[in-house]
Amino acid sequence: MAKDFTAELVACFGDPVRENPTGVMVEAAFRACGLNWRYLTIHVPSVNLRDAITGVRAFGMRGANLTIPHKVAVIPYLDEIAPDAALIGAVNTIRREGDRLIGENTDGKGFLRGLRQDAGTDPKGKRALVLGAGGASRAIVAELALAGAADILVLNRSSQRGEAMVSDLVRKTGAPIRFQNWQDTFRVSSSVDLLVNATSVGLFPDINSMPPVDLASASPGMLVCDAVPNPPDTALLRTARLFGLRVLDGLSMLVHQGVIGFRMWTGIDPPEDVMKDSLKSSLA
Ligand code: NDP
Repeated sequence: MAKDFTAELVACFGDPVRENPTGVMVEAAFRACGLNWRYLTIHVPSVNLRDAITGVRAFGMRGANLTIPHKVAVIPYLDEIAPDAALIGAVNTIRREGDRLIGENTDGKGFLRGLRQDAGTDPKGKRALVLGAGGASRAIVAELALAGAADILVLNRSSQRGEAMVSDLVRKTGAPIRFQNWQDTFRVSSSVDLLVNATSVGLFPDINSMPPVDLASASPGMLVCDAVPNPPDTALLRTARLFGLRVLDGLSMLVHQGVIGFRMWTGIDPPEDVMKDSLKSSLA
């Protein structure tokens, strides 16, 4: 049989992107599945994004991830946007269908998959409190809404950003999503089932900061989730444990969004433990 020395390619485009560990986990899964595929982490400044997507087409790449600041800017360069990526208004994953590049958003889906698989929690009928109104919050709130959460309260420092996000998602989903401005420490009431930190508070190098929430009155059954992946053991999760609350870290969301993307690109279910272990050691 003729030898084939070519590899299938996927990439991550971002700026900055040097500290993005996704490639380690996806490459580990390629190896574990015996696939001759490569995941390239590439610094792409905004001014070069259009050319980078032309490169995806020219190289016949199988897909890509987009990170800051490209998740919204990439949309005009794609052939189609999947319905929930359109709802979220951002694309973090590109997959190829023939010659067409389809924009997907796996951030919120990854969060939900982790919630169900790693924390054994179905958001349907749950009352959620989501901190932050940036890209991660928008993806998480949209998926919680689609999954039938009974009430979603979004807190954000900047009212303008929070109100705009909530009114847009209420209009598009009809779900019970509310906004409240967040300046002082917020007392989490006993009616909340699920608290999600989707702010960047706690992210490296700001590792000892905690979002201003008071957990003293929280229900003992409340689950505390943090989207911050680095470090995974954030001050919020450490505090939640002191109150005896269950926690779910940001590695869960990161691994599960990677699992969903891997399946979109390759059609194969990757070994999740291999992906999680490689990610943990790359962040250690
Ligand atoms: P954005 O920059 O889009 O949003 C940041 C959010 O954090 C805003 O709501 C901002 O509020 C809020 N915020 C920042 N600093 C403070 C502060 N000191 N006090 C209160 N609120 C603050 O970021 P992303 O949404 O893209 O990312 C948010 C987090 O989610 C990051 O830690 C990121 O690493 C993580 N993430 C994790 C993923 C995973 O797979 N685990 C995937 C994607 C993101 P304001 O609007 O008032 O400025």
